[in-house]
Amino acid sequence: MNKEFEEDIRYASSITKLSETELKVLKEADAAAEELVMPEYEHYMNHEFNTEAIPVAKKHGLFGIPIPVEYGGLGLSPMVHSLVQMRLGQLGLGFATLYDVQTFIAANIISRWGSDEQKLKHLKPMASGDSIFSFCLTEPEAGSDPNMMSTTYTKEGSGYVINGTKYLITNGSICDHMILFAKSKDGNGITSFIINSKSEGFSVGTVLKEKIGLFTSDTAMLDFENVHVEKEDIIGTEGKGLHIAYSALLNGRLGIGSACIGVIEASLSASIKRAKERIQHGKEIGKHQLIQQHISAMRQNLEMARWPVLKAVLEKEAYDKNPDNEALLKNADINSALAKRIASRLAFESADRAVQVHGGFGYSLMSPVGQLFLDSRVARIYEGTDEIQDLKIASDVLGAGYSAYA
Ligand SMILES: Cc1cc2nc3c(=O)[nH]c(=O)nc-3n(C[C@H](O)[C@H](O)[C@H](O)COP(=O)(O)OP(=O)(O)OC[C@H]3O[C@@H](n4cnc5c(N)ncnc54)[C@H](O)[C@@H]3O)c2cc1C
Repeated sequence: MNKEFEEDIRYASSITKLSETELKVLKEADAAAEELVMPEYEHYMNHEFNTEAIPVAKKHGLFGIPIPVEYGGLGLSPMVHSLVQMRLGQLGLGFATLYDVQTFIAANIISRWGSDEQKLKHLKPMASGDSIFSFCLTEPEAGSDPNMMSTTYTKEGSGYVINGTKYLITNGSICDHMILFAKSKDGNGITSFIINSKSEGFSVGTVLKEKIGLFTSDTAMLDFENVHVEKEDIIGTEGKGLHIAYSALLNGRLGIGSACIGVIEASLSASIKRAKERIQHGKEIGKHQLIQQHISAMRQNLEMARWPVLKAVLEKEAYDKNPDNEALLKNADINSALAKRIASRLAFESADRAVQVHGGFGYSLMSPVGQLFLDSRVARIYEGTDEIQDLKIASDVLGAGYSAYA
């Protein structure tokens, strides 16, 4: 098993006892990640979506991890889920981003807010990986402030029609279903819907190829022109869409924070190897003290990022056991913001140090660290930017009346 992953498991085991079944699943995740190293590298070099990732994850059963057993999943804890994502993060954030949207966000939304019919229809194919989801919130003019969205729905016949454009959507051009957020034209607020990607009136616009990293992840613009949905496609209560989006992003941030642990580990392990192999000025660069400083800093970053992520996992577990408790929800929410904010900053900083340790070779995709550097940058943007997390954290500390925006 991967040495860093063994350490993650050992660390988690000091907090929560992991069962034999859970350890077996983690072994599968390790095998999947190992199998994905070469395909991920090759597709990254070609700046293209990694078509091999979904089949490998399906084969190793990774999509079913958080989905309840009665709906075809493994029903495992947020701790196991987080550990799996740490392992995937060692590959960079390409597949971890797909996995985050599918399992941390979409599966969570349907398990938590879906009707019995929606659960029966969607969770089983999600657990097997036969149905891939996207999460469509952002628009060209509505990013940090989703209230500004202009995608609309309006009543028509027995259901509704949807019109608008979504932007920067992970899994956008490859998904089977979408969780879409739209604003009522009749003043009923923002509502979330499940939409089949084969629906008439839906089309994929531009697939974003000009990203500065994350090449193996699919990111697309999506257009909705009079797309018909039925009343049964509404998730939860009409008008409560943003509440659902925010509760899903809580979970998504846990996933991204976890993947960032993997980025730090991969940055450190590649740097240790390079520091022992590369010789300059008559000795291994690892014997130059300023290189040791980078190694030490990455090691410290790992230690500093781990606990906030695991603490957020524990807070999420507490909330899951009591999902109507508002105080537990708030705790889980703020801890997942802290986890993502801290881990993403430290992941980017670690990948930057790893590039430095690798010198000119590090500034290329031939090295293992170039990808980590490019990919980790996005973790400070998606699922709530650094600034949005800072505002959330500050208003939590300062208390009522100190929210920077309504
Ligand atoms: C690769 C990638 C994948 C993505 N995947 C998805 C996806 O699957 N689904 C989805 O819905 N979205 C997705 N996104 C979109 C992402 O969530 C948004 O980019 C992000 O929320 C920020 O929105 P924005 O880009 O419009 O930036 P803006 O909101 O325009 O922000 C620009 C800057 O202003 C700052 N800012 C904004 N408001 C405030 C404020 N009140 N106070 C202080 N500073 C502020 C921001 O922090 C940022 O620094 C993805 C983005 C990327 C890059």
